Amino acid sequence: MKKILITGAAGFLGSHLCDRFIKEGYYVIAMDNLITGDLRNIEHLFKLENFEFYHHDVTKFVNVPGKLDYILHFASPASPIDYLKIPIQTLKVGALGTHNLLGLAKVKNARILIASTSEIYGDPLVHPQTEEYYGNVNTIGPRGVYDEAKRFMESITMAYNRFHGLETRIVRIFNTYGPRMRLNDGRVIPAFIGQALRGEDLTVFGDGSQTRSFCYVDDEVEGIYRLLLSDYDMPVNIGNPHEITIKDFAEEIVKLTGTDQKVIYKPLPQDDPMQRQPDITKAKEILGWEPKVSRAEGMKKTYEYFKSLPEDELYKKEHKDFKDYNRV
Ligand code: UDP
Repeated sequence: MKKILITGAAGFLGSHLCDRFIKEGYYVIAMDNLITGDLRNIEHLFKLENFEFYHHDVTKFVNVPGKLDYILHFASPASPIDYLKIPIQTLKVGALGTHNLLGLAKVKNARILIASTSEIYGDPLVHPQTEEYYGNVNTIGPRGVYDEAKRFMESITMAYNRFHGLETRIVRIFNTYGPRMRLNDGRVIPAFIGQALRGEDLTVFGDGSQTRSFCYVDDEVEGIYRLLLSDYDMPVNIGNPHEITIKDFAEEIVKLTGTDQKVIYKPLPQDDPMQRQPDITKAKEILGWEPKVSRAEGMKKTYEYFKSLPEDELYKKEHKDFKDYNRV
């Protein structure tokens, strides 16, 4: 049985990856420090014999007994609100955490896939974004802690690949959505759906002309799965190229939820990228992958999930008190 370590396993993407690798017959070691992750996302797996959970912070030395075939490094805060609240942890998990996991991969002779992001392109001046684009990132802006940690993550991964001959994979993940996103993480999809469910107006930041391209989680997981098992060690964009303005997206949510909410406008956060759309030519050619789930279908499933949550979840403003996590 192949053994895989998944970090950030109790998070949104991590938990879906756990499900996928369990389904494929792997032995899954799930690791999370539970700062932004939630055990409820993986509790259905606890009874399985080929699943175990380690409550551990990967910025500290990581030890896993026995053999290991694969590592997926998905631990990181991943929403602008989160990395504003826990900037130092965000930097540490991308930098120190990645270093620890690369070291673990080296001693175990395991293949490692790291979760990079479209944020490494910053506020992009090339559109759509190809993997060759170097990006336009403000190192000292509020998003710098995430963007630069992820850029460092890519660099150190390629250094281990070239210097130590480690088998590495780099996925650049574009906006992904689906069940198990955190309702209060500030990202646009949970924010809009939460507002609709509470009967509040939908808050569009700026004039809403900025664009995003949203990928349903099952498609994202399929792309990551194929990349891990491929022979390709350069970065690959995995995302849905179907682009929409945030203003039009808000109107779609109003229709989807059948509510009579208004759309209201709030100031645009600093360094909020104006456009984002993946060029997925590489993923198509190398992995034979492209997204299959339409936004209408994916959003319907996502809305059903949020509707099924206990009502008090809707009114929780904070996930938890984050302030202690910035201590060294
Ligand atoms: N956004 C918005 N209203 C909200 C939350 C987000 O208009 O209540 C905008 C945000 O400014 C950005 C886009 O939606 O332009 C996507 O934001 P998100 O935080 O989901 O992801 P990211 O900016 O990292 O792509």
